[in-house]
Amino acid sequence: MSTIGTVDKKEAIKAEGKELITSTQLIIQEAIEKLGYSAEMYELLKEPLRLLTVRIPVKMDDGSTKIFTGYRSQHNDAVGPSKGGIRFHPEVNEDEVKALSMWMSLKCGIVDLPYGGGKGGIICDPKSMSTNELERLSRGYVRAISQIVGPTKDIPAPDVYTNPQIMAWMMDEYSRIQEFDSPGFITGKPIVLGGSQGRETATAQGVTICIEEAAKREGITLQGARVIIQGFGNAGSFLAKFMVEAGALVIGISDAHGALYNPKGLDINDLLDRRDSFGTITPQFTNVISNKELLEKECDILVPAAISNQITKENAANIKAKIVVEAANGPTTLEATKILTERGILLVPDVLASAGGVSVSYFEWVQNNQGYYWTEEEVAEKLRMKMVVSFESVYSTSKNRNVNMRLAAYMVGIKKMAEASRFRGWV
Ligand code: GLU
Repeated sequence: MSTIGTVDKKEAIKAEGKELITSTQLIIQEAIEKLGYSAEMYELLKEPLRLLTVRIPVKMDDGSTKIFTGYRSQHNDAVGPSKGGIRFHPEVNEDEVKALSMWMSLKCGIVDLPYGGGKGGIICDPKSMSTNELERLSRGYVRAISQIVGPTKDIPAPDVYTNPQIMAWMMDEYSRIQEFDSPGFITGKPIVLGGSQGRETATAQGVTICIEEAAKREGITLQGARVIIQGFGNAGSFLAKFMVEAGALVIGISDAHGALYNPKGLDINDLLDRRDSFGTITPQFTNVISNKELLEKECDILVPAAISNQITKENAANIKAKIVVEAANGPTTLEATKILTERGILLVPDVLASAGGVSVSYFEWVQNNQGYYWTEEEVAEKLRMKMVVSFESVYSTSKNRNVNMRLAAYMVGIKKMAEASRFRGWV
């Protein structure tokens, strides 16, 4: 790639990050006004309280040293310690991490967890790194941020392209630094290291419950409903499985390279067997369409479960789904949200739909703290209760206040954080 191309790409990534923050701030402001809080409350919540930028030297397998840049953002810890995942991705940037930490605050508020929002990220391309390099990077990141994280300060978790193995290395590094075993430092761990039953499938379970609740209210039966899922990573792949189990027809799925579409339904079990650990599947096929085309295909339920900014003002008018449920963080822009709402499409926002992951992370942390572990059924039941109650609270706020589901979710999510900040005397 030419230098000019690289500079342009960097600028475009930066601009996208900025856009995520600006649109988040606009909805936060609207929600704060609707709830009757002061302008000072907006000043407090419009930016994270803390952002740490770190540079991490990593010895690569070829003997060279590479310096990686990483971030940890803590939005607001009035309610309790910060909570949120760590992503490994070439396009991670400061503003995106900040926006993601703000969304974590909202998620934790919506599903009523005793946390504020946090998020971390490292600019790297995990697909081109060896296991040993990834381990050294994960451990280096924990050493760099160790002073501001911990079981009662800020509890990380998996996010895009991070997994239980990476959580295990990070937990081990943190325990070595502290000189005591600290399972509650991080969630999404392997079960043998204090991970929770049901954590791996939790995001997809939460999305499934939101789909069921939304479908009920829109008069759609899941049996035979046509579902399109953009993304075949942790959330997308388990969701595809759950949709098939519910009797739905998954007619489209995609990965970072392209999409598979069949109006008669795809063989999801076969695709699950053939995907790699990054959710890549389409290079094995010839009849591949673009992600853009997939989003515009006719279906009953559309689930963007990949990355941000996928439904925009350019394609929102062409979306043919009856319900859009956001399993990814930030897949629909503000303008697109307005267009979909005007067109009568029910949009279940990310801060509600994807909150199943952090809910079971909370259960994992509770189990670590008490040293007593629950069965898969107990976890599933507790998750269902949380998601059903949270869906209803956002849905009824949306109806009662005559606002779209995204604004309603922000209103529900901000309340606890604002009250906690007020009681602490911060505002
Ligand atoms: N990364 C996930 C999210 O965006 C999970 C966070 C967590 O479990 O703390 O919600």
